[in-house]
Amino acid sequence: MQRYFIFDFDSTITSVEALDVLAEHKGAQLTDEARLNLVQLIASLTSKAMQGDLSFRDALKERMNALQLTKHDIDWLIPVLKTKISASFKEHKDFFQTHRDNIFVISGGFEEYIIPVVEEIGIKSEHVFANRFIEQENGILLADDEAALSRDQGKVIALQTLPLHGEIIVIGDGYTDYEMKEKGKATQFILYAEHCNRSDSIPQYDQIIFSLHELLNSLHG
Ligand SMILES: [Mg+2]
Repeated sequence: MQRYFIFDFDSTITSVEALDVLAEHKGAQLTDEARLNLVQLIASLTSKAMQGDLSFRDALKERMNALQLTKHDIDWLIPVLKTKISASFKEHKDFFQTHRDNIFVISGGFEEYIIPVVEEIGIKSEHVFANRFIEQENGILLADDEAALSRDQGKVIALQTLPLHGEIIVIGDGYTDYEMKEKGKATQFILYAEHCNRSDSIPQYDQIIFSLHELLNSLHG
């Protein structure tokens, strides 16, 4: 039987939430108080969405409005994120190479910065399913409303459009990752708790791991 691996990006493949990193970056141009407000707003919206307390779509809209991102911010972000790839993922490039046809990334983040980062560990760009930016006339980026991932339960929608037949293992730290198992689209949900342990708010996981080594050990065991 085929076995597929669906990875989350933020706080799983990388140790950070990309939008939180962007909030710090944008905040550096503001006064201390405004900076703190922005960083706290973005972090609380991210965390509410990942715990399932706020709809993903609303959380994304509010964060994009607050951040006022441009293409320059994304150009700045990409090399920063490359330095934040989880150590155990970098150590197992052989795993990503061997299973590359069966490895996917489904993320509520944006493909413009996810693809160049995950290519570093050998994930195929066409196996990345994420949001897309739309540049407005004033240069400010918004989330493309047409992307499946911008919707509530976007990960469930994205997964069910993939023609995967076999065992589907989801690895991620968030409620939206768990939803793929909850809605019956995935066989297993593995909570990735190295960077952010949400085992209290998502106790329905099949397994909890703190590095990629643990996943590979359990597959071989
Ligand atoms: Mg995540």
